[in-house]
Amino acid sequence: MTTQEIDHSSRRFEVHNPGTGEVVGTFPVHSEERVRAAVDRAREASAWWQSIGYDGRRTRLDAFRGVIARRIQQLAGVINEEMGKPHSDAVLEVAPVLDHLAWAGKHAGKVLGPTRVASGPLAAHLAGKVEYKPLGVVGVIGPWNYPVFTPMGSIVYALAAGNTVVFKPSEYTPGVGAWLVDAFSQVVPEHPVLQLVTGDGSTGAALCRAGVNKIAFTGSTATAKRVMATCAETLTPLVAECGGKDALLVDADADLKAAAEGAVWGGMSNAGQSCIGVERVYVHEQVYDEFAALISAKVADLRAGSDPDAKIGPITMPSQVGVITGHVAEALERGGSVVAGAASTTGQVVQPVVLVDVPEDAAAVREETFGPTLTMRRVRDMDEAVGLANASHYALAASVFSRKSGTEIAGRLRSGMVSVNSVFSFAVLPTVPFGGVGDSGFGRIHGADGLREFCYAHAVVRQRFKPPLALMTFGRTAKAEERLGKIIALVHGGK
Ligand code: NDP
Repeated sequence: MTTQEIDHSSRRFEVHNPGTGEVVGTFPVHSEERVRAAVDRAREASAWWQSIGYDGRRTRLDAFRGVIARRIQQLAGVINEEMGKPHSDAVLEVAPVLDHLAWAGKHAGKVLGPTRVASGPLAAHLAGKVEYKPLGVVGVIGPWNYPVFTPMGSIVYALAAGNTVVFKPSEYTPGVGAWLVDAFSQVVPEHPVLQLVTGDGSTGAALCRAGVNKIAFTGSTATAKRVMATCAETLTPLVAECGGKDALLVDADADLKAAAEGAVWGGMSNAGQSCIGVERVYVHEQVYDEFAALISAKVADLRAGSDPDAKIGPITMPSQVGVITGHVAEALERGGSVVAGAASTTGQVVQPVVLVDVPEDAAAVREETFGPTLTMRRVRDMDEAVGLANASHYALAASVFSRKSGTEIAGRLRSGMVSVNSVFSFAVLPTVPFGGVGDSGFGRIHGADGLREFCYAHAVVRQRFKPPLALMTFGRTAKAEERLGKIIALVHGGK
């Protein structure tokens, strides 16, 4: 049975190619009952998935990795068709997922398996052991902008940790979700370890209520609040990967060519529809003019379009076009100007543009624009740049370009991740956690933190021999209490 055959009785929705408007698929809007049934099947499957252990799961995750690697062009075709990014960018999106699959499968046992922990001198009679056990069934709700990389950041780590997963992709990219789930079921045919449910927000809400042990949500901050409220009804825990307004800082000693490349790629690849996309650029006044010239030259070479030669695809969600043009229009009305590209839109195709002199309280600087736009500002020094970068209610990621002080500046930025002398680099390292703070959400995917996110800590403390002082007994003596007092004074009193 393929994932699309699960439900023929439901209302269906159409998926459109954002470049051509053509219908590229129809999928069911799964009802609450269907979602609950999928979660029930996932719960049954979880006993088997847990029983095969870390090695068994690693073998299967490796096989999944092999299928994706061999059919990467086909998967990229589905991404391109449903969300519009250029085919080669879609391949680039999928590639790091293979590394995450390899890392999570290989390291889950080491990170999560039983570990002895120290007892300390006052508890020498006790032996502690900590293990991270899978939660059970994880519901993954994904966005459309990186329809493989983003949900797989949760799916891969949840599966490697021993959970089964029910995945609800965005209604803009259900075909990508179906592809992934079908590919997985080819290498794990025994039980429904990874299942698909499709639909709109109502299906996502049904998943939150369906008895899952955790929801891994990636999407906008506004939707995260709704998801959190729904999860609160059943005390279902949540990891929330939300939006951002990431800043890129250019110091006086930066490699300006690399910084300009980073700003343009970080801000305009994927048509700017990246949660970790660069949206604000703060440049040291000593190098501002040179940097602005480099950026302008780069943006002049870029063109958005729906044709295969365009380096920037169309905007996926029709409603987002109004948000982008609104931010640009307000920025221009409030004194901003265009230094590179053009404020030009045709249908869902938005041309890249760089704005300067935009007030810091304008929407183009404060809110997630999610289009191929950058705001750029001259700063006195990196202290001012750090202050402006941190003055955001979002705090997902950031980038710093500086030859000498990159790491030091990175340490002062309030964000979940920082790239130094590059952009997006943290996303491709399976060893580092990915996630934000503030309005960018909470919890982590990727790395050891990402594995633990889908587990609960299980502590076992074994008494190895009788304690020298019998304290936890109603037969406790005055002498024992006196000795405890002396020990407390000795160990802690001098502090
Ligand atoms: P949305 O918030 O619109 O939707 C995200 C997912 O939530 C979709 O599957 C959506 O379904 C579903 N959903 C909508 N309403 C509900 C509800 N009431 N209950 C449960 N689920 C619901 O985000 P987008 O898909 O537009 O994605 C873009 C956003 O995602 C941006 O803000 C971006 O920054 C953020 N993002 C964050 C990342 C991170 O790791 N921090 C990575 C990638 C993107 P449907 O689409 O069917 O309505």
